[in-house]
Amino acid sequence: MSRYTGPSCRLCRREGQKLFLKGERCYSSKCALEKRAYAPGQHGQGRKAKMSNYGLQLREKQKAKRFYGIQETQFHNYFEKAAAQKGQAGENLLIMLETRLDNAVFRMGFASSRKEARQLVRHGHFVVNGRKQNIPSFTVKAGDVIKVKEKSTSSPKFKEIRDMAISTPSWITVDVDKLEGKVVAMPRREDIDTPVAEHLIVELYSK
Ligand code: SF4
Repeated sequence: MSRYTGPSCRLCRREGQKLFLKGERCYSSKCALEKRAYAPGQHGQGRKAKMSNYGLQLREKQKAKRFYGIQETQFHNYFEKAAAQKGQAGENLLIMLETRLDNAVFRMGFASSRKEARQLVRHGHFVVNGRKQNIPSFTVKAGDVIKVKEKSTSSPKFKEIRDMAISTPSWITVDVDKLEGKVVAMPRREDIDTPVAEHLIVELYSK
């Protein structure tokens, strides 16, 4: 299935929730959900029918996929791997999504959205433990150091980061002067603020 190339805000309106896909705009009054808090399309403002269990499970899966910008097949592969691991499949799934390199760059505050983070990684602006890494789905682990490549440090994008006050989740630390972040521990479920009810995704895939 090809990547969705339509308007990002439409996805938030479909889910009825901010998915923070457009960086700073999402935090401003320009956010489409602030102005039109109803589903897109002709019947978007119509009366809402009660959703079936299946509908709820499907929506939760779509929301998680869209939050992390992942396509259907890849998302399903993540779930299969998560279910095969020890522990709870839903929690494993979220941890796998959270430890993607593009998400880690976003959590470090070096990109305003996951989409931008993915692009920066793809363009080869980062090294992990000193080695170039341009695969957004690369999994980071505890102890990994993610750093802006030496050649890229003079770009305006990264120069401005040095002046920013950045807050990060507890599993990752950032040194803005060095333009690097460190994964200090693997994230636990309570460290992940993604508003997804993962048990619904597990129920969907367990049918
Ligand atoms: Fe979603 Fe951001 Fe668009 Fe608001 S501005 S609807 S949060 S993508």
